[in-house]
This record gives sequence, C-alpha cells and structure tokens, in this order.
Amino acid sequence: MELVVLGTGDAFSATRFGSSAVVLGPEGHVLIDAPDAIMRALAHASLRSGVEVSPSTIDDILLTHLHGDHVNGLEAFGFLRWLEWRRTGRPLPRLHTTTHAADRLWARLAPAMDQGGTANLSDYFELRVLPKSAPASIAGLSVRHRMGRHTVPCCGFLISDGHRTLGWSGDTTWDPGHVEWLSEADFVVHETSPAPAHTPVEYLNALPADLRARMGLVHMSDDFDPSSTGIRLLADGELIRF
Ligand SMILES: [Zn+2]
Repeated sequence: MELVVLGTGDAFSATRFGSSAVVLGPEGHVLIDAPDAIMRALAHASLRSGVEVSPSTIDDILLTHLHGDHVNGLEAFGFLRWLEWRRTGRPLPRLHTTTHAADRLWARLAPAMDQGGTANLSDYFELRVLPKSAPASIAGLSVRHRMGRHTVPCCGFLISDGHRTLGWSGDTTWDPGHVEWLSEADFVVHETSPAPAHTPVEYLNALPADLRARMGLVHMSDDFDPSSTGIRLLADGELIRF
C-alpha cells in the first residue's frame, strides 16, 4: 500500500501542514482529512513525493472529525469541485464520515457555502455516512472506523487493500482499546500531542517494540523533541510504501 503524507502538524503549527494524507487506492486517491491550506499542502506533497495529488485526482474524502485543522480545507476543495462540476459535469467528490460528524458538518460549512440559502452540502459533496459495523468500500479499499476519545466525536480508520492494512488513529487521547484495534494494521499512523485531548508520546513509547516498529507519528507540535521517542516521525510530503 502507498500513501502520501500531506501534513504532520498539530492545530497550532506554524511550520507544518495539518495532519492528513492521501491513500493511493487501487481505484483512486482517498484524502484523509482536509486541513487548512489544502491546495498548498497537496502541491507541496506532489513536489516532494513525485506523486501528483490534487483535487483533480481525489474523488473520495475520509473525515475523522470537525476540528478546523482537519476540515478547514473542505471549503476550498468543495468550491473548486463545484465550479468544475458546473463547467464539465464531473461528479462531485464523495465525503465519508461518521454519523456524528455528518449530522453537524453542514452547520459548520453553511455560513460560508450556502450561497444566500440556495446551496446545500449536496451541491458540493456526495455525503456517505460510514456504516457502524460493516466495512465501507471506498476506491477499491475496505474501510472500517472506530471512535477514539477526543473533545468532539472523532474516529480512526483501518484501511485495507486486501493485502495490507493501514491504521490511522485520528485525534484521540490515550486509549489502549483504540491502539489495540489499530494494531492489526501493517502500518499505523498515530497522533501525538499533549493530554488531555491527545496522546502524549510517553504512552506510545511504552507499547510493544513490534508495534512501535510499524508506527509513524503525526499531529506533532512545532517544539516536539525528536529525541523523546524512537518511533518514526513522519514528514510533510513523504511517500510511504509498506
Ligand atoms: Zn481534533
């Protein structure tokens, strides 16, 4: 499996893009979260990874939760694809998320996107609520989700192409059950930031060596000390194959 990491920063980062990635699925690119400056994050990652990732290559978006550092890019992405739909008739991108986020997503976007009350979420995205227990089939990938523990409802993902599985923690405070669920993956992208909303790296440092060896970190503060962990620190624009 391959993914291009777009960003590895936390919500306050002045030097990194927000934590997000594009999974290169067998039937298309899948964006995980849409942080601020999404166009620049995609352009930066394309240049650095050598893989073109852009709103023209992405027809599926997975959303973990509604914090701005994970969804602020939806406005620009949505308007760009709405304009393209008007010009060429290209189908709108599909937006996959939990029932919690789906219920409140338009309330968050509407003040900027409702075009005087004439437009709705369905003018920009085809909303698909992730089934609670069954996997969703997205771009040839099987996607499962699990709610972590965060200040607002937030989920992580297990994304499989039938051979390899990617784990993505989403934002979560330390949750042993969540890590256990993610640990079946061949590669796990886990967040780290200070408690109480996030997982301090000390907890991840205490995980079994075999799991730590299959793990990469995102959602790091700008002053994150690389010497505080032996776990791989992911970088903005990095292409990961596993
Ligand atoms: Zn968050």
